[in-house]
Amino acid sequence: MIPQQTVQEILDTAKIEDIVEQYVTLKKRGANMLGLCPFHNEKTPSFTVSPTKNIFKCFGCGKGGNPVQFLMEHDGFTFPEALRHLAERYNIEIEEIKPSKEAIEAQQLHASLFIVNQYAKDFFHDQLMNTDKGKSVGLNYFKERGFREETIKKFGLGYAPSQKDAFTLKAINDGYKVDTLKDLGLTSQYDRDFFRDRVMFSIHNLTGKVIGFGGRILVKNVKAPKYVNSPDSSIYNKSKSLYGAYFAKKAIRQLDECILVEGYTDVISLHQAGIENVVASSGTSLTVDQIRLIKRNTPNIKILYDGDTAGVKAALRGLDLVLEQDMNVRVVLLPTGEDPDSHLKNIGTTAFKEYIDKEANDFILFKTKLLLEEAAGDPVKTSNVIKDIVASIARVPDNLKRSLFIKECANLVGVEEKVLINATNSMIIEQNRKKEQAKERERARENYKRNKPETSRKNNDGSFPSANDDFPTTENEPWQGEDDWPDERGTPTIEPKDTPRKKKAIGDEYQERYILMLLMNFGDKIFDKDENITVAHFILSNIQDVIDEFDNPFYESIVKECLQLLADKKTIQLSYFVNHQDEKIRTLAVDLSTSQFEFSPNWKEMHGVLLNQKEPEQNFNKDSKGSVLLFKMKKLNKMIDKNKQKLLEHAQDEKEYMKCLKIQMHLNKIRGELAKQIGRVV
Ligand SMILES: [Zn+2]
Repeated sequence: MIPQQTVQEILDTAKIEDIVEQYVTLKKRGANMLGLCPFHNEKTPSFTVSPTKNIFKCFGCGKGGNPVQFLMEHDGFTFPEALRHLAERYNIEIEEIKPSKEAIEAQQLHASLFIVNQYAKDFFHDQLMNTDKGKSVGLNYFKERGFREETIKKFGLGYAPSQKDAFTLKAINDGYKVDTLKDLGLTSQYDRDFFRDRVMFSIHNLTGKVIGFGGRILVKNVKAPKYVNSPDSSIYNKSKSLYGAYFAKKAIRQLDECILVEGYTDVISLHQAGIENVVASSGTSLTVDQIRLIKRNTPNIKILYDGDTAGVKAALRGLDLVLEQDMNVRVVLLPTGEDPDSHLKNIGTTAFKEYIDKEANDFILFKTKLLLEEAAGDPVKTSNVIKDIVASIARVPDNLKRSLFIKECANLVGVEEKVLINATNSMIIEQNRKKEQAKERERARENYKRNKPETSRKNNDGSFPSANDDFPTTENEPWQGEDDWPDERGTPTIEPKDTPRKKKAIGDEYQERYILMLLMNFGDKIFDKDENITVAHFILSNIQDVIDEFDNPFYESIVKECLQLLADKKTIQLSYFVNHQDEKIRTLAVDLSTSQFEFSPNWKEMHGVLLNQKEPEQNFNKDSKGSVLLFKMKKLNKMIDKNKQKLLEHAQDEKEYMKCLKIQMHLNKIRGELAKQIGRVV
């Protein structure tokens, strides 16, 4: 294990431009350096390196981070591997600290599982290549498929003999524990081999280690399933792995597209033919985790289906998940009776590539056509088709894409566009409502956790007089949801395309984001020379009294972490966040430090005020004042709205009514003062 101190030293020493320049040609541009992104295919450079911030960021594919993350992304290193690599480069000595006994055992267990799987892979491969049965049955099958010997080796193909315990006995004989064999699903609970008389496919993780197996039976007329897979284990999770991903990841990035097929042999055939950006979801239907795995490398996915429509229709349902992840999904239907492997062999690589390019249909349009054909003019069926399609369209997060789909689908179905728009909008509202409900529950849970006694919420010194000192606090109530707040303009906006609720959340979170941007980028800068306080100190002490009012709990947690840093007398600076152990915080820090200029011009549009036109770099001082005031104003407005609501509710109860009225006047006064202050800053 690498001691924390050394980790820090490595992070402080490693220079992003040194590391990146080993792989990317960089040109200087202003304070930054620019080059072609190694993570996606591009012709004009959008890959930016900032030596001062010690980070990289690609404005094309969105990847970004510190030197360690660059190596992890680029070379597939694990975190410790990347650290060791950097330590070696910068001659930093790592004095390993001895891990605890439990840690060693856990690590050994973990490592031993990979070792056992590797052993099994070698066993199956040896059986395939060097035994009579293996050669006549297994190897023959692979050769018939056209797999070359180097391919068989590369993909770790093998053969499991038909004896009931050939593998288990040999493994035990070679010193492996039967418990481990069972943990990995190689041996059944009755001490028999799990895979028998099957050709074997090794399943690799992203770093190329064997995590499990798939076995295909060759003998006909048996009751056994055609394919079986290793059961899930502590190193293998079916729903989180994709077959072939290790061999495909580089090509997927370069071509900015991932081809998804159904079978192991399809992956191998295509790969052997030079189409390397191909994976299969082994043993499961496509899961969200698998989609995210793909999305880390490309937003473009092309799914190849065997040419029988019954199977395709079943598969289409699962694809709405992919749409939700904002992926561009295209579908290719192969000719009847063909699978990717057979079709490739029939027409050859060049024609195959042309075919899948030419025949690629956008998923939603493809689905529309397919379902319409089936409905064949029957009005009841057709109306169900429309519902089905609308449900898919409503899941597309991008507005523009959504309206394009609506247009085209309306054409295909032969209904007016307006009909589809209305149907989609009600579906979106319904989906949003469900999401909001889920979020509310989450918030209530967060709130509950947050209010548990161990979190000290007492004000640190230097806090501003609190605006809600004599105001009934709302913090213990579960979140009521945005619907409880009347729209600021007083009238509910009917604009179903983008629900008002959503818009408002963006407005508020935007402000919260801006505050984080200032904290992360300028937190350690001096705000007031005479008082000797920093920007972080100024912002935090000012928003402390409304700190629990953040709309975005993630942002709130970061601000609270900043408060803690301040209390510990630590500096709040960018390097802390871009090197943070929480990946979500690292990503946010990179985003906020590289895209900050997009903020300034939006101020007017978002808040009706113009803070300044200069870049934040030259303006953090004034920006901080303005942001804090606007942030407080926003929260105060919420309190006022809520109180107005109470006034209405208590219209019959004079005592309560007067109490609310008093609060209302008090709040209005504070608002007036705030407005004046904002006026002075703006
Ligand atoms: Zn990129």
